[in-house]
Amino acid sequence: MKLEFDETQSLYNSGSQSARSWTEAWVCAWAYCPHCGNAKMSQFPNNSPLADFLCPSCSEEFELKSQKSKFGTKVADGAYKTKCERLAASNNPNLLLMNYDLKTLSVINLFIVPKHFFVREIIEERKPLAATARRAGWVGSNILLGRVPDSGKIHIVQNAVVRPKELVLEEWQKTLFLRNESPETRGWLLDVMNCVESLGKSEFTLDQVYAFERHLGELYPGNQNVKPKIRQQLQYLRDRGFIEFVSRGSYRLRK
Ligand SMILES: [Zn+2]
Repeated sequence: MKLEFDETQSLYNSGSQSARSWTEAWVCAWAYCPHCGNAKMSQFPNNSPLADFLCPSCSEEFELKSQKSKFGTKVADGAYKTKCERLAASNNPNLLLMNYDLKTLSVINLFIVPKHFFVREIIEERKPLAATARRAGWVGSNILLGRVPDSGKIHIVQNAVVRPKELVLEEWQKTLFLRNESPETRGWLLDVMNCVESLGKSEFTLDQVYAFERHLGELYPGNQNVKPKIRQQLQYLRDRGFIEFVSRGSYRLRK
């Protein structure tokens, strides 16, 4: 995998339009499918409004967003209504996020948020565009990247280093169990996963997760049973092999 963009492309034209063409050409040339490992992805023929790339082998779809600066806690995305409607659809695209450097014209970070990490809770409705805007009244969305657990940000390239493909495919497989759950059920699961991962420890206790009771209560106002909910999610994550039980009240994240 070569991280530089193709130099034959409009090198001195650094508008967002040309950045779009470099980054898309780069994905076509170098990115592999994280789902089945196929060496190439193909571009959708005519500016499909919902996805940019397709794996010709497993039909998994991908949407690419690229920018110069690192992605923060929110990423602006397409129409809010369309995003919400597509949550449960089988062809809801996975999100490919790329940061690039304009000096070296190369990829710095490329990571994927698998589609099964998309739940209603991470899609934020934006204010309608002002009456003076070209698309007045249009309502866009933000993806709340900060609410996505680390296991839902799978790096192919990290700080200009290409990560081993086997590792990427393995990380991808590890959370596929989420696809069996409805977006409604996944909301709690992902929030609890995020709490567990944010502890930054391979072993943790139930009490440490209970410490997020207030935080989770704020995310789900009206829910009076946060602790039982936490236990239920941990049980589920254990049954799916994401975490393992060590002893009473203590758990371990599976490698
Ligand atoms: Zn594939």
